[in-house]
Amino acid sequence: MAEVVLTNVTKIYPGNVKAVDNISLTIQDREFVVLVGPSGCGKSTTLRMVAGLEDISDGEIRIGERVVNGVAPKDRDIAMVFQNYALYPHMTVYKNMAFGLLLRRRYGAWDNPLGFLFAHGLWRKARAERQEIDRRVHEAADILGITPLLNRRPKALSGGQRQRVAVGRAIVRNPKAFLFDEPLSNLDAKLRIGMRAEIKRLHRRVQTTTIYVTHDQEEAMTLGDRVVVMKDGLIQQCDTPYEVYERPTNRFVAGFVGTPPMNFFEGRLLQEGDRLVFDEGDNRLTVSPRHRAVLAGHVGRTLTLGVRPEMLHPTGEARTDSALRVQVSVVEPLGDRTDVYAGTPRHPHIVCRVDSQTRVPENSAAVLAVDMERVHFFEAGENGRNLTRG
Ligand code: ADP
Repeated sequence: MAEVVLTNVTKIYPGNVKAVDNISLTIQDREFVVLVGPSGCGKSTTLRMVAGLEDISDGEIRIGERVVNGVAPKDRDIAMVFQNYALYPHMTVYKNMAFGLLLRRRYGAWDNPLGFLFAHGLWRKARAERQEIDRRVHEAADILGITPLLNRRPKALSGGQRQRVAVGRAIVRNPKAFLFDEPLSNLDAKLRIGMRAEIKRLHRRVQTTTIYVTHDQEEAMTLGDRVVVMKDGLIQQCDTPYEVYERPTNRFVAGFVGTPPMNFFEGRLLQEGDRLVFDEGDNRLTVSPRHRAVLAGHVGRTLTLGVRPEMLHPTGEARTDSALRVQVSVVEPLGDRTDVYAGTPRHPHIVCRVDSQTRVPENSAAVLAVDMERVHFFEAGENGRNLTRG
């Protein structure tokens, strides 16, 4: 096990495509870090540079004590699990899991009992090595619950079972770090959630340093000790899932994390007597005392107000100081909760999450109270900085 440290790492592909732009990141020993972001943000390239499958254009990558910039992938002591599993179709599950270790044997040449004729000591060492491989394969199979499948070939396995074998192959190596590249993307939704929990349990058990790439923010949030949100080859935020959700650094992160996504309102910040108000266009919302000091310098400016769906509450009262008058279009009951789609003339796509007992009729006018204590204010623009992060 080991720490993985990226220092000012840049990757420029031919054609001057800057896929990764001067990123620095320390993944601590035993930590589970998830790289997440939209397609093309540079997360796979980052992982592949750690694996040694892509050269680094600039910067340094260290695994444990060793700078690995010039080290071949096979010598980096890492194990990678790919999206397509990359199992050998003609080998049994056992062979698939053992294969990497068999290739690395030191006494492999003496594995044949006839070796005894030449060098009894070497043959004994080879046998001990083989027994150790067998022990590791059975242990990994036991951890993953695939012992009954050891004699099958991949084509006789379901997607989830293949995924387990691919993970098993990584475990037996007992590497310094696991690298996962979208390992669950090929599974159906239900299986994905099941495998997600398994990967988490597995990490709790083996505690190997893990870097995991996904485009699925929910997967990132549920798996990571820390989540690294990337965009355009840059790290936008690297924090615990809680921090990323509750204290996003900018509008991009705020909108990327959470389902349904955060609602954004463009508007102006105004001073009205001793109150600060946010003018949404058709509604005026009073800024909570909590945010007043930090926003005082922004009066007169256009800002973006960010409100998560669960911070909006349908209310009977037409409260004017922190409520939006909306027209409800669609109501989606999801069983344990209900998503209500609504809009104001200026902001036609608002989503509000309510508990399943709350009845909101479609095609009706409603008033949504805004929990102004918990909202965020961002500078204008797609990547606007969160002014109220604290
Ligand atoms: P992600 O994994 O976040 O979807 P990638 O790391 O695969 O993103 O790609 C980052 C950027 O680098 C993208 O713009 C992509 O088109 C580009 N890219 C990836 N691989 C290559 C390559 N081999 N040659 C040129 N450009 C590439």
